[in-house]
Amino acid sequence: KQQILLAERPKGTPDEHTFQFVEADIKQPEEGEVLIQTLYVSVDPYMRGRMIDAPSYVAPFELNAVIDGGVIGKVIASKSNQLEIGDIVIGGYGWQTHYTASEDEVRKVDKEIAPISTHLGILGMTGLTAYFGLLDIGRPKEGETVVISGAAGAVGSVVGQIAKIKGAYVVGIAGSDEKNRYLSDELQFDATINYKTTTNLANDIAKACPNGVDVYFDNVGGDISDAVHANLNKFARIPVCGAISSYNLEGEDIGPRIQTTLIKKSALMQGFTLGDYADRFPEGSKALAQWLQQGKLQYQETIKEGFENIPDAFLDLFKGNNTGKLLVKIAEQ
Ligand code: NDP
Repeated sequence: KQQILLAERPKGTPDEHTFQFVEADIKQPEEGEVLIQTLYVSVDPYMRGRMIDAPSYVAPFELNAVIDGGVIGKVIASKSNQLEIGDIVIGGYGWQTHYTASEDEVRKVDKEIAPISTHLGILGMTGLTAYFGLLDIGRPKEGETVVISGAAGAVGSVVGQIAKIKGAYVVGIAGSDEKNRYLSDELQFDATINYKTTTNLANDIAKACPNGVDVYFDNVGGDISDAVHANLNKFARIPVCGAISSYNLEGEDIGPRIQTTLIKKSALMQGFTLGDYADRFPEGSKALAQWLQQGKLQYQETIKEGFENIPDAFLDLFKGNNTGKLLVKIAEQ
C-alpha cells in the first residue's frame, strides 16, 4: 500500500519537501478488524494548521507519520461482526490507499441517500460546519442580509443556500467570475463580488448590500473581512469559521483593529469549531439530508484523481482551484 507522510513542517506555502510517499505492507485484519481500500480522500484547509507544531484545538500532525484526515473507503476483508465486505465506511485514517481498522474506528455510511462522496462534503464535515456556524451563531432572520467570504467553497456554498432557505438576502464573495456565475445562476445568490478584480471591495460590498450587513460568515479573514466589517449593521453577527488568507503567512497577520467597530455596531463576533456541536450532529445531518432530498440544497464537487495527486489537490485549496468540496478519488466504488 502507499502512504503519504509529513516529512517536514512547512514555513509558508507547503511544497514537495513537505510530503514523502512511502510503500508499506498491508496488514490482514484480526478479530474485530476490517481491511479498507480508500476510495476518496478529503483535503481540507485546517490540515495546514496541523502541519506546524503549535497548540490548537486538534493535535499537530506527527513528523514522519501518515497525514490523517477524512476518508471514505470500502471494506475488502472483514473479521468483524459489524462490518462486511462491500460496506462503505467513513474514517479519519488519512492519506493512504489501504488501512486496517478496528470496527469501532470507522462508521458505515448510507450508500443510497446520495453519492458516497457527499459524506465528506455537504452531508459531512463541511456541510455541518455551514449548518451550525450559520444557524447557531449567525442566526439569520427573514429579509436580513448575509455576506459570505469563500462563498463558492465547500462550507461557503452551503452557508449561502441555507441562508436562502431561511429567507435572507445573500451576497457571496469569491475569487473568480466563473465561481460567481455558479453562485448566482445555480445557487440563486442575490449578488456576488469577485474580490480579485474589484478596485474597492468595501464600496462594492456597500453597493451589493443596500440594507447593510446583518450576518457575515467569515471563511477567509484578512483584507476581505476588513472590507465587510466596514459595512456591518447594528447588532450584526459574525461567525468566524476560518481565516484561510493567513494560513500560509510567514509573518504576523496585521490589520485594522476591530474593537471599536464591534462596540459601535453592538456586533457579536464568535469563533467556533465544528467539534463544539458534536452532540447535535444528528440534528444537522438530518436537516442537510432532508434539504438535499427535497432539492433545496445543491452541491458541486471538484474531484482530482489519483493517490499521487493528493498533495497537489491540497495546495489547490490555497490557489482557489476548487468550487465546492475538493476531494481526491483513489479507486472506483
Ligand atoms: P474551500 O472549499 O472554501 O476551499 C478554500 C477556498 O478558499 C478556495 O477555493 C479559495 O476560493 C479560498 N481562498 C484560498 N486562499 C484565499 C485567500 N488568500 N484569500 C481569500 N480566499 C482564499 O474550503 P472549506 O470550505 O473546506 O473551508 C473554508 C474555510 O472554513 C477555511 O478557512 C477552513 O479552515 C474553515 N473551516 C472551519 C471549520 C471549523 O470547524 N471552524 C471546519 C471546516 C472548515 P477563492 O477562489 O474564492 O479564493
